[in-house]
Amino acid sequence: MPKFEYAPAPESRAVVDLQSSYGLFINGEFTDGSGTSFKSISPATEEVLAEVSAASEADIDNAVAAARKAYTRVWSKMSGADRGKYLYRIARILQERAREFAVLETLDNGKPIKESRDVDIPLAAAHFFYNAGWADKLGYAALPGGANPQPHGVVGQIIPWNFPMLMLAWKIAPALATGNTVVLKPAETTPLTALLFAEVCQQADLPPGVVNIVTGAGPTGQAIVDHPGIDKLAFTGSTGVGKMIARAISGTRKKATLELGGKAANIVFDDAPIDQAVEGIVRGIFFNQGHVCCAGSRLLVQETIADEVESRLKRRLETLRVGDPLDKNTDVGAINSRAQLDRIIALTDVGEAEGAVRWDNGCELPSKGFWFRPTVFTGVTQTHRIAQEEVFGPVLSVLTFRTPQEAVAKANNTPYGLSAGIWTEKGSRILWMADQLKAGVVWANTFNQFDPTSPFGGYKESGYGREGGRHGLEPYVKGTLS
Ligand code: NDP
Repeated sequence: MPKFEYAPAPESRAVVDLQSSYGLFINGEFTDGSGTSFKSISPATEEVLAEVSAASEADIDNAVAAARKAYTRVWSKMSGADRGKYLYRIARILQERAREFAVLETLDNGKPIKESRDVDIPLAAAHFFYNAGWADKLGYAALPGGANPQPHGVVGQIIPWNFPMLMLAWKIAPALATGNTVVLKPAETTPLTALLFAEVCQQADLPPGVVNIVTGAGPTGQAIVDHPGIDKLAFTGSTGVGKMIARAISGTRKKATLELGGKAANIVFDDAPIDQAVEGIVRGIFFNQGHVCCAGSRLLVQETIADEVESRLKRRLETLRVGDPLDKNTDVGAINSRAQLDRIIALTDVGEAEGAVRWDNGCELPSKGFWFRPTVFTGVTQTHRIAQEEVFGPVLSVLTFRTPQEAVAKANNTPYGLSAGIWTEKGSRILWMADQLKAGVVWANTFNQFDPTSPFGGYKESGYGREGGRHGLEPYVKGTLS
């Protein structure tokens, strides 16, 4: 296949007004905090973008107190219609400032600008619009509490680095719509868009203390989890930290939703339109550098078409453009951190040592920053670690199957259960498979499609609770539906 040369098409970063240092956002104001600070760098260049405060336990105390005061005095007393107005206002400001958010996200996270511009930020705004619509209709949403669902109070929210702004929206929008106030911690490597969001809260005149943003690393997250003033926790991240949180709150009155890892099977039958399936495989695992909890990291392909799919896939991967995330032509950006790159290298080395056959697209990589070539492992068996563990990088493991029953058995042979994909022309087979697959989300003839109206969440070690849709409101109100 001929390779096209593309002239550079960099998005200007002039739209972003980067400050050299950022404090914490507590009670509607930026404060220095009493802890230390850390640097947020661009993973594409290793350039230091800003110095950011690490919130101490005393800072978390202040943030929780501000959230409590805002909850009791203002937010819990406000009508749903009025809360909705604030959420609509935030959504509109996000749209107005979308380019600024997209560029900042790409700088701090390393993801391609075409993804932050076309996926992350528009979807983040859509989650605020969607939840704004619910704020005055909660009594009709069939939630616990019936006609008068009650919020928990102060919610602690801890989010990861793979979709910083989108995960913030998934967390904050339903919490506020249902009448809770929040203390949110973004990931250490990607705090900047959350801090820009704090500015949006000021711009929208959100009452002080309704949203508090506390930056920091694991210990800051731990301080939120352990704080007695937190009524409910919402966490997205690794299964390891999710289990620690579940242990920490067991025996307390705190509620939690956990959205954890995944090892999704993307299953291609021999009647599937192969070129479309190849695009779906690429979207499934190379979107966002594979830093996606629901990534289609295991390709299960029917044996009769395995060779053809493999050769078409490799040909397609040779055309992927890897490099400067701010370039509008870039398909695959930088790995988010040195630590994550080291994890990917370690696990792929194990894949080779265990006998799987490694292939990568051979593209040139920039000399600075954290990069990993789109990689495919064939000859993978179910016991290989690369077939069992979350690599969380641009790495696909290919396995084969002969019958639908075998595909189901292999797809379900994982401790996770977040998502799955099915590629076939037969509608009846899609329905049968979707019924058998232990996965919270099943895509048919597509992959990695997201919408605020659609609930998302997992089975087994992928966590519990749903985010998005009417179901996503439920964890933010008291009681359960019996
Ligand atoms: P973590 O689970 O450590 O990070 C998620 C969030 O939890 C971050 O904000 C993190 O803070 C915070 N955190 C870390 N330790 C604690 C703690 N003890 N108590 C409370 N909060 C805490 O993920 P990693 O960044 O370490 O990534 C490790 C692996 O996890 C990846 O390789 C990937 O496999 C998986 N992962 C899965 C995600 C998913 O969406 N399913 C998302 C991210 C990672 P900080 O970042 O500041 O340390």
